[in-house]
Amino acid sequence: MPKLHKDRAADVDVMQRDISVCPVLQVSLVVPVFNEIDVVGLFVERVRRVFDDNSSLGIEIVFINDGSTDGTLEKLISLQSEDSRLRIVDLSRNFGKEAALTAGLQMAMGRVIVPIDVDLQDPPELICDMVALWREGYDVVLARRISRSNDTFAKRTTAKWFYWIHNRVSDLVLPENVGDFRLMDRAVADVLNQLPETQRFMKGLLAWVGFRTATVNYDRPERSAGSSKFSGWRLWNFALEGLTSFSTSPLRIWTYIGGAVSLFSFAYGLFILLHVLIGGVDVPGYASILVTVTFLGGLQLLGIGVIGEYLGRTYFESKRRPVFVVRRIYELDR
Ligand code: UDP
Ligand code: MG
Repeated sequence: MPKLHKDRAADVDVMQRDISVCPVLQVSLVVPVFNEIDVVGLFVERVRRVFDDNSSLGIEIVFINDGSTDGTLEKLISLQSEDSRLRIVDLSRNFGKEAALTAGLQMAMGRVIVPIDVDLQDPPELICDMVALWREGYDVVLARRISRSNDTFAKRTTAKWFYWIHNRVSDLVLPENVGDFRLMDRAVADVLNQLPETQRFMKGLLAWVGFRTATVNYDRPERSAGSSKFSGWRLWNFALEGLTSFSTSPLRIWTYIGGAVSLFSFAYGLFILLHVLIGGVDVPGYASILVTVTFLGGLQLLGIGVIGEYLGRTYFESKRRPVFVVRRIYELDR
């Protein structure tokens, strides 16, 4: 009789999975790589060390080469010749991490699927703890960073602001300090693969699907080699994508700003009328008119800008272009 557990995230009963049905659990690691020649070897070695001691966990490593120009693909192919558990999906150019992850999720064949960064900032050892929770019956196991001391102060602060704003303006709550590194059941990946949108903010989509969720904590180490692919500007655009993907509050707020400004103008109009009735015609007012006109002009442009953000996204979404293009898949028979 399977054991019942109380879910740690939501207060519901979770049915323990019957693992006798699948004694060797197939785990798919989904690894997007973009110019990571310095780390792919280290990554594979570390993953091997973790999983080769663990006979109950079978793995495949799905690398998505996201248009690398530094010989990462050749390196991956040579690693594959020594280990047939590697599968390589070579995209036709750099499509960005979100698209690469989308490609990887579609390729992965395992019973559970783990998106993971190649730079070893997401420790593969943690996957064993995640699998243990999956066996207890959870469909999603999040990995939460308990310390971000390796991130710069600016990155930590802006990340904090992003979560604060996002979780207030959007109906969808993003768990804080949780990246793409997580374990998900096949069923969860199937749902993600069916989502039709072409602009994919994975953090949001992963949270949107829901399912029974548990969390493990870890210390996020520094990048093992190479450098971060996310500049400040790229992160800013990423944040805008996140906000607009799951909320229309930035659009709606203009209704209220417009209402408040109209109300203020009406009150000010009344004030001027009374002023003229009591004190007579008062011609000067150049400064106040100029300030009002420029202020309202700025406000209107801001509003149009926000509408533009959404319109642009609707425009791209309406084209229904594929999220990524595969140049070639490299697989060995196992
Ligand atoms: N990545 C990618 N395509 C890109 C940018 C990044 O596939 O356009 C991959 C990268 O190779 C790494 C992961 O996404 O495996 C996370 O990137 P990075 O470590 O640079 O991000 P950070 O940890 O600094 O947020
Ligand atoms: Mg990193």
